[in-house]
Amino acid sequence: MKDKIWLSSPHMGGSERKFVTEAFDTNWVAPLGPNVNGFEKDLESYLKDDIYVGALSSGTAAIHLALILLGVTAGDEVLCQSMTFSASANPIMYQGATPIFIDSETETWNLCPVHLETAIKDRIAKGKKPKAIIAVHLYGMPYKVDDITAISKEYDIPVVEDSAEALGSHYDNKMCGTFGDIGILSFNGNKIITTSGGGALVAHTKELRDKAIFLATQARDNAPHYQHSHVGYNYRMSNISAGIGRGQMEVLDKHIALRREMNVFYKDLFKNVKGVSVFSEISNNYFSNHWLSCIKIDSKLAGFTSETLRLALEDENIESRPLWKPMHLQPIFEKFPYYGNNVSENLFKNGLCLPSGSNLTDTDRDRITSAIQKLS
Ligand SMILES: *Cc1c(COP(=O)(O)O)cnc(C)c1O
Repeated sequence: MKDKIWLSSPHMGGSERKFVTEAFDTNWVAPLGPNVNGFEKDLESYLKDDIYVGALSSGTAAIHLALILLGVTAGDEVLCQSMTFSASANPIMYQGATPIFIDSETETWNLCPVHLETAIKDRIAKGKKPKAIIAVHLYGMPYKVDDITAISKEYDIPVVEDSAEALGSHYDNKMCGTFGDIGILSFNGNKIITTSGGGALVAHTKELRDKAIFLATQARDNAPHYQHSHVGYNYRMSNISAGIGRGQMEVLDKHIALRREMNVFYKDLFKNVKGVSVFSEISNNYFSNHWLSCIKIDSKLAGFTSETLRLALEDENIESRPLWKPMHLQPIFEKFPYYGNNVSENLFKNGLCLPSGSNLTDTDRDRITSAIQKLS
């Protein structure tokens, strides 16, 4: 059997070991230390805006804390992009709140402003104003920032910007992660950079960032003994993980360039294949890190379905995967309200994510090419 070609796998740059060794040598083997501080500083200067970053144990934890900081409690309603990874929506459940799912639009595959506004008006008419909007930059593609921000302002509902897949993406030269009232990042093993597992919360004030860290470290009041007046969480990033993160920051831009080359590779590969379109930016305002390269297949024109292609790749030990299955179609979420018109359903039915890692080789690309050419 040939080696497996993964959708997206960890790609170390070289300095990660140095930072991790330093942590051992100085005995900073704890969920705090110089690497945690250093990684936060690296992220802050990378994101450039006047922002404050708190390093956490996961992106999911960051979304959970964001909802808590925005005051979401039991019985509240939270608007959430339906087409996403379940981690965007699960924290709504942790709070005992109700998710209201919204369809995508066809251009960025993210939160549809039209359905978002319809939903807000309808929820208000039904007697409850939603507490927050969770918007996602799927596969690294910025959502329609201007439209979503305008709606958020008009109705005074804050945005949690799920930038888990979009570190390094930007819109109008402003970094993803900095648009929402609170942004979140993920450094899970398959993301554009990894700390083996980890995440971050991006805030616009130091007060908010410090409050997030307070909650993430068991909400200890200022006292010599252990004193608590809030429910706390154990959500801080470890100094070992942060060491990996510092090394990864040194190669982030290089890895984004390589992922974007993978996207160009697929554009060339499918150039002459009828019915297949490679997901790309709709204008120069958008810059995707192309965390994953995705295609949409019109099976009538192409003569094959996304599932046929997935199985053909699997035969060659090449991983591919359907696009995120919308949350409103998931057994756990199907009883909650949904506002939409089949865009996310169709994307799920006809889309496929292809191997996109920054560590793929020419040999890998040749294997992908011949597997696909056999079919088309
Ligand atoms: C990965 C991911 C998350 C969760 O991040 P973790 O670090 O894995 O908890 C949230 N939202 C989206 C869109 C993701 O892809």
